[in-house]
Amino acid sequence: MYSLLSCLRIGAVCSLLMTMPSHAQTVAPPATDKLRPNDRAMLIVVDVQNCFVEGGSLPVKDGAAVVPVINAVSQAFDNIVVTQDWHTPDHASFASQHPGRKPFETIDLPYGRQVLWPDHCVQGTPGAALVDGLRLPRAQLVIRKGFHRGIDSYSAFMEADGRTSTGLAAYLQARGIDTVYVAGLATDFCVAWTALDARKAGFATFVIDDASRAIDLDGSLAAAWRRMQAAGVARITSRSIEGWPRP
Ligand SMILES: [Zn+2]
Repeated sequence: MYSLLSCLRIGAVCSLLMTMPSHAQTVAPPATDKLRPNDRAMLIVVDVQNCFVEGGSLPVKDGAAVVPVINAVSQAFDNIVVTQDWHTPDHASFASQHPGRKPFETIDLPYGRQVLWPDHCVQGTPGAALVDGLRLPRAQLVIRKGFHRGIDSYSAFMEADGRTSTGLAAYLQARGIDTVYVAGLATDFCVAWTALDARKAGFATFVIDDASRAIDLDGSLAAAWRRMQAAGVARITSRSIEGWPRP
């Protein structure tokens, strides 16, 4: 059943990609559920940090469950980038910086609507460190985001003002990458925004669902999947990827 659904889903993605404006970096994912990442593919592991797993200040439900899946599936990739949320202690996304406001409320900042979060992933603190069990010895780049005090950055490509680049797209293009696979925390925020910006930058984009977990704030998970699928992001599981040892 999975393979039929997956073929249908990826077939739909191919049609979406074919209707998009041509772009030198845009490639359609193969019309199969057996994906074998080549040397032009990059795994982007998003924010698997202590703050975002059980015991952290902004835990994603079941967040640590992504670690063994990411460790295993990463063996199918020649190229791996890791991201870290990396905030100043007085970051504008922290509810603590807005008197009278509470975590998970929204506020209007100069660049638009912002969810207010508990303090998390402060630069250099244990909470901002990668989760201990993450084993990605071949990761080639760690990209830190959200380090401008006044601007949040869910996406690994573009900060929340929509103008300030992290440099990741240029790095991937310089490396000859045309396809990205995104996994990590959380599906409906940093994973989704990263995947959407990857599509905007012209990369074929997969999100590995079982290697990600969501916060799901007021329906944010379903909304994120709607936006991702409309943008041509393919939703897969690690089982669709070949080239790593199965449990
Ligand atoms: Zn953050």
